[in-house]
Amino acid sequence: MTNKEQHDVIIIGAGAAGLSAGLVLARAQATVAIIDAGNPRNGPAAQMHGFVSRDGLSPSEFLAIARDEVVGYGATVRYESVEAITRDGDGSFAVTLSTGVVASARALLLATGLKDELPHLDGVHERWGTLVYHCPYCHGFEVLNQAIVVIGGPVREMSIKQSGLLRKYSDRVTFATNGIKLTAAERHRLEAFGVTVVDGAVSHIVGQPGELDGIALVDGTQLACKAVFIAPPQRPNDGLLRSLGCAVDPNSGFVAVNPMGQTSVPGVWAAGNVVTPTAQVITAAGAGSASAIAINGWLLNKDLDDASGQVTAQASAPKPPSVHARAIITWIAIFPLVTLGFFAIAPFAAQWNPVLRAFVLSVVVVPLAVYLVVPQLMKIYGRIRSSRR
Ligand SMILES: Cc1cc2nc3c(=O)[nH]c(=O)nc-3n(C[C@H](O)[C@H](O)[C@H](O)COP(=O)(O)OP(=O)(O)OC[C@H]3O[C@@H](n4cnc5c(N)ncnc54)[C@H](O)[C@@H]3O)c2cc1C
Repeated sequence: MTNKEQHDVIIIGAGAAGLSAGLVLARAQATVAIIDAGNPRNGPAAQMHGFVSRDGLSPSEFLAIARDEVVGYGATVRYESVEAITRDGDGSFAVTLSTGVVASARALLLATGLKDELPHLDGVHERWGTLVYHCPYCHGFEVLNQAIVVIGGPVREMSIKQSGLLRKYSDRVTFATNGIKLTAAERHRLEAFGVTVVDGAVSHIVGQPGELDGIALVDGTQLACKAVFIAPPQRPNDGLLRSLGCAVDPNSGFVAVNPMGQTSVPGVWAAGNVVTPTAQVITAAGAGSASAIAINGWLLNKDLDDASGQVTAQASAPKPPSVHARAIITWIAIFPLVTLGFFAIAPFAAQWNPVLRAFVLSVVVVPLAVYLVVPQLMKIYGRIRSSRR
């Protein structure tokens, strides 16, 4: 890449999502540069599973095949990290690489994946993806009928769910709660399903380097096993997207995209784990392909505008309402309804204790406002905003 080389599209991230998008765009005659820091999420795993027609292939071999296909259609793939992105006066994007090289593109696809935040337990990091796993769909079949320990972590619901899911692969599943306080019902459901629940903090993984004998609790108890599962928190690598001003979905905390991966910033798309933590390799590749088709259509519209001298409006993904807008909408829904409710029950409730009156209003009227009126107001708000764009 020479200084300020111009591209139609720069794709950041050469995992399944980025390479799949690169293939579609390069075949569609777009000039494409793909930049990758060389750290795909499933890199530590020896095999990739669940990708029909590619089941059992090593992740590195999968990416090498994909990269060769993309390069075969004229795209460039460069192994470097992207440090910053800014917008030029003409609307194009200036992408600064770690070497200081700056490349320019009309549109961007960010497919930068996510980071699994592994617990600070001795022995986990070096066995991650080979003996310590997170995904039953990726690795469960490979440990069929073996002794499995699930270590509880900060993502409580996922830890509990993992224990149940893994019980389908083996009748020797132990859930080491490691600080998770199960309700009586949760404990009963797991135990009734055949999961052994062991309380107590986990200290470390037991076994020679590259091997796994089990796990040790802080109180000295050892639980023998052949596989360990954890549910680490997942942090999207979305610093670049946020620096561009892409809106974040307040519910998920991930950058918001429409079904084609379009963000709230015109010209910027995102696909794969960076916006969808649940994406597997095959779905990340699918999302990359969908984004590529949307980007190509967007570029075509710009080309038609340039050729004809006519400018057409292009839709960008709807911004989810901000936390402030949601708070105001909720207040608008609740305040008049509570007032109306107050007057409606006043004739009957004149004799009631004020505490009872407040209780009736809050358990009947407030939930009605929240569940019936707030969603309708959100829809109206969304329509007003999109009609203004
Ligand atoms: C141990 C493990 C095993 C797994 N096994 C399976 C499996 O068997 N089957 C399955 O379907 N799924 C599996 N997964 C999930 C799978 O890894 C993801 O679904 C998939 O990697 C998502 O693809 P992606 O393209 O979104 O992100 P990634 O594959 O993570 O690619 C993102 C790329 O972006 C690059 N990048 C990030 N920031 C920058 C930057 N600033 N500049 C340049 N490049 C950057 C990264 O280096 C990386 O190469 C596994 C996950 C783990 C952790």
